[in-house]
Amino acid sequence: MEADAGTAATAGRVALVVEDDEDIRALIEFTLATQGFEVIAVGSGLEGVEAVRDHHPDLITLDLGLPGIDGIEACRRIREISDAYVVMITARDEEIDRLLGLETGADDFIAKPFSARELKARVNAMFRRPRTVGGVPAVEVTGEGPHEVLVHGPLRVDVESRRAFRDDQELVLTRTEFDLLTELMRAPARVWSREALLRSVWGTDWASDTHLVEVHVGNLRRKLSQGIDPGTRFIHTVRGVGYRMELPA
Ligand code: CA
Repeated sequence: MEADAGTAATAGRVALVVEDDEDIRALIEFTLATQGFEVIAVGSGLEGVEAVRDHHPDLITLDLGLPGIDGIEACRRIREISDAYVVMITARDEEIDRLLGLETGADDFIAKPFSARELKARVNAMFRRPRTVGGVPAVEVTGEGPHEVLVHGPLRVDVESRRAFRDDQELVLTRTEFDLLTELMRAPARVWSREALLRSVWGTDWASDTHLVEVHVGNLRRKLSQGIDPGTRFIHTVRGVGYRMELPA
């Protein structure tokens, strides 16, 4: 088995593969195992939801076309009990556009056929950031040391404990939304192109994936203004370029 530079972040973590095609399931299982994951594999959506409950995976690959409940419904049920990274795997490239228009709860999408290398790269990018889930919320605001806290107006992000707040209210974000917000808040004056965000958050720079950024920014925006005036904007669209943080009036 080849040595893999990205293994450190993924070693010892649990991955769940939900895929009914045996060949593809074996490919994904093997690929994730070489990254150090302890891999559990099942062949249907219902078994997938059950496995999430039993094994608390850190990463889930979810086939869209599954017997019984499909990948979208499975993801919806999984999201109620887990905040694991979810990679949705689709049979066709064109399907991704349709999926991006839905609120699937998935963090990333890959179309078949994909290579082991591509899957590895995506997974490594997801796990590149140190994560301490369930940490203690930060009260003190410091810009240095291991306890990094980012502040932007009423927004506060505690990077180590991976918690985000608006005033005193904790925001319920997916891992990808959290990573996106962190990246934007680390350089709030910067205008981020979609490609730059793809590189930093998803670890890819395929221009065809910029839809992914748009959808997650849209979801993040909605959550940032949840419960207050929905017109409150913390992320400004710079026409033809990308995004930057703004302070609502
Ligand atoms: Ca399938």
